[in-house]
Amino acid sequence: MKPLLTVESITKHFADTPVVKNVSFTVYPGEIFALLGPSGCGKTTTLRIIAGFEKADTGKIAMAERLLANDAVHISPELRGIGLVFQDYALFPHKNVLDNVAFGLRKVPKKTRRERATEVLDMVGMKDFHARLPHHLSGGEQQRVALARSIIARPQLLLLDEPFSSLDPGLRQTTRDEVRALLKGEGISAILVTHDQEEALSFAERLAVMKEGTVEQIGTPEAVYQQPETAYVADFLGQTNFINASVKDGIAETPFGRVEVDGAATGEMLLSIRPECLTMAAPDPGNSGLKKGRIVGQAFKGHYFTYRVEIEGASYFVQTDSYCRFQIGDTVQLKVLSAVAVSN
Ligand code: ATP
Repeated sequence: MKPLLTVESITKHFADTPVVKNVSFTVYPGEIFALLGPSGCGKTTTLRIIAGFEKADTGKIAMAERLLANDAVHISPELRGIGLVFQDYALFPHKNVLDNVAFGLRKVPKKTRRERATEVLDMVGMKDFHARLPHHLSGGEQQRVALARSIIARPQLLLLDEPFSSLDPGLRQTTRDEVRALLKGEGISAILVTHDQEEALSFAERLAVMKEGTVEQIGTPEAVYQQPETAYVADFLGQTNFINASVKDGIAETPFGRVEVDGAATGEMLLSIRPECLTMAAPDPGNSGLKKGRIVGQAFKGHYFTYRVEIEGASYFVQTDSYCRFQIGDTVQLKVLSAVAVSN
């Protein structure tokens, strides 16, 4: 499949500070993509360059094989066929819902604008809210109006900049699920910018993990979570245990016994082992070769527990389901289900 959007080696400095460094990725038609990274890593600047609000110093942006920007070309934002949704919704306070949405479709007759606004408000579940002013809507409702306004002109690509972060946690998840279902239903490609790993993993079909202006890894949520290439990606996407281990022909010696590491590698390596990839049991007299540890911490997380286990002065996080009960001070043995080698 040909990509819809191609971002090729874009670089951007503010004064002398580089904030986007040689960033490249593609988004396919109908795909939901995410840029994930901590505050200040250059996500919004990358999005603003795609939208055309910022000019990259170098690099190229193309959409559906149409050149949008390079060293010599800069198509203005309103001619790019790109829709935008921001964190603060940016609705006009004095316009009602219908007029706010219709505003997204300028330069067409008023009647057509209103018909199309009615249609997209139905799509986002805001049929009965036409006459309301924004300040009489909840945060989730305002966000749906902002979404309706951004898709009314049928953009080829929608850019979503932290659109759910000002909603409270319950509403955030439902609004996110509804927006995702709408985008997939309508076949709209989107790029979500977020610093929330859980949001990126559940919303996007592929994501780019960013660090200090660069892309560290691009992949499906499962791939970046389960096969992180670097310690940074492993750590940013969730809790993990790092251990240094000797690996011979793909088998690592760890404090929890031998474990197969992806790829037949040999040498001293840094391994990432997720807490859910460790299992914990009372010491097995038949397996005295396995080192014993002591539980030094415990946290109840609802449907699971996280334990902290100390073995020979080092501590490890282990996740168990909430039926697997141990007490602080218990002696246990750990086994490892899977480990991945990462670069530092
Ligand atoms: P956040 O999630 O906090 O918005 P981000 O990853 O989106 O972070 P950017 O907003 O792209 O990061 O900012 C990247 C860096 O560039 C930051 O250090 C920021 O202060 C700086 N920056 C952004 N816009 C400008 C500007 N117009 N002038 C100068 N510096 C800027």
